[in-house]
Amino acid sequence: MDEQNNKDGRDGYENVCAMCHRPESVCGRLFHLPPNLMLCESCLQKSFDLMASTMDTTDPNHLMGNLKIILPGAQNQNQTKLKPKKKEAEAEQGDVESGDVMDIAKLPSPHEIKAKLDEYVIGQDHAKKVISVAVYNHYKRVRRQDEEAFKDDVVIEKSNMLMLGPTGCGKTYLVQTLAKLLNVPLAITDATSLTEAGYIGDDVESVLSKLLANADNDVERAEHGIVFIDEIDKIAKKKNTTSRDVSGESVQQGLLKLLEGADVEVPVGASSKNGMVPTTMINTRNILFICGGAFPGLDEIIKTRLTKSFTMGFNSYLKDEFDKDRDILAKATMEDLREFGMVPEFIGRLPILFALRGLDRDAMKRILTEPKNAIIKQYQKLFAMDEVQLKFTDDALDVIAEKAIAKETGARALRSILEEFMLDIMYEIPKDSYIGTVTITADYINGNGAPIIEMRS
Ligand code: ADP
Repeated sequence: MDEQNNKDGRDGYENVCAMCHRPESVCGRLFHLPPNLMLCESCLQKSFDLMASTMDTTDPNHLMGNLKIILPGAQNQNQTKLKPKKKEAEAEQGDVESGDVMDIAKLPSPHEIKAKLDEYVIGQDHAKKVISVAVYNHYKRVRRQDEEAFKDDVVIEKSNMLMLGPTGCGKTYLVQTLAKLLNVPLAITDATSLTEAGYIGDDVESVLSKLLANADNDVERAEHGIVFIDEIDKIAKKKNTTSRDVSGESVQQGLLKLLEGADVEVPVGASSKNGMVPTTMINTRNILFICGGAFPGLDEIIKTRLTKSFTMGFNSYLKDEFDKDRDILAKATMEDLREFGMVPEFIGRLPILFALRGLDRDAMKRILTEPKNAIIKQYQKLFAMDEVQLKFTDDALDVIAEKAIAKETGARALRSILEEFMLDIMYEIPKDSYIGTVTITADYINGNGAPIIEMRS
């Protein structure tokens, strides 16, 4: 023992690597990093490799000396701000025109937000109104909180939201457009990919890792961003199960502290925490959480409740009435969601509840032509580059809309249907430079003929 004491000068204890916890006698020489960190060569290398892979390696300032290793539990003094990835940031802007981007610091009012949303999202008027007001209140609350004078004032509750609506009706698109208009980072996650920490799948904190990445690793920007969790209905409490519900109720429980607002240790560039992944601290107090889901079966729960609440004797008549109601999801209450399998504490943290409508034929037609980046406008632009005018007859649009409704995947089906019919045309047209106009007719979409081609005069 004495001999060892002399060698290490540490009362018989041996130094261990702070990451892999192997003693120096096993892992080899330890590197001492200020202020008080010891790492073995292999862990040091792995950390550098991992950090380097998340950095912009084309940057001449990208030197190993800039890298810091952050250990769980020691994040605050060790937070690192990585260089923005320019290409990703530009791509984020996507299909919202740069002139439409609003300055969140100037707090655009609800009617201004809605007016911009109207240019991209068709219909869903109620949803757009609710979301505009909620977002306005959210950022007003954030601003008030940041101001010292209001520190001890009334606490305004977070405006987290729960959106109900059938698939393809624009839930994700609405949030995406909103985030782009406000120029705030957005992370979109599928609730089905999340599991309780320690099980196969992503930890709930992974949603914040995505947000951080989309905020170019700028913690402050991420802390004012939006997180959209899709398919939230899939983490409903599983009924009649005896096994541990690691992807249902436990995920709801795991999300609670994120929704409420807490300091969360977030893995940087990975979906789960482990000794090899650097972490950083993110406060979720000012992050706006929006959850969305189709909630299949919720309509029946609502109908049953509504039918029960009316006078006895009219039951069958009322049930028929409710069956015809296209807006039945808009009548959902917290109680219905509880019955569906959502944990009360979870829905309690999503105080703003609203529904989007399924899209009818008219809405589908408008989606084809009206939004600023409408699919048909995109095709017309492509054709215009070859100096060809592309037209659609009104009944052709009707047929496309009807085909899309039949697919039951909402507006998502429109693009795939159009692509199927446009392929041949886009292949043939450039062959003949005399073609001036192409008109798509209902007959062509129905498979009964070719589009009308007019030559240049
Ligand atoms: P979901 O409700 O399943 O999240 P999405 O928002 O992903 O559906 O919609 C799929 C696509 O359909 C969007 O990318 C968008 O192009 C189009 N879309 C859906 N609804 C609308 C709408 N109301 N207005 C304009 N485009 C829409």
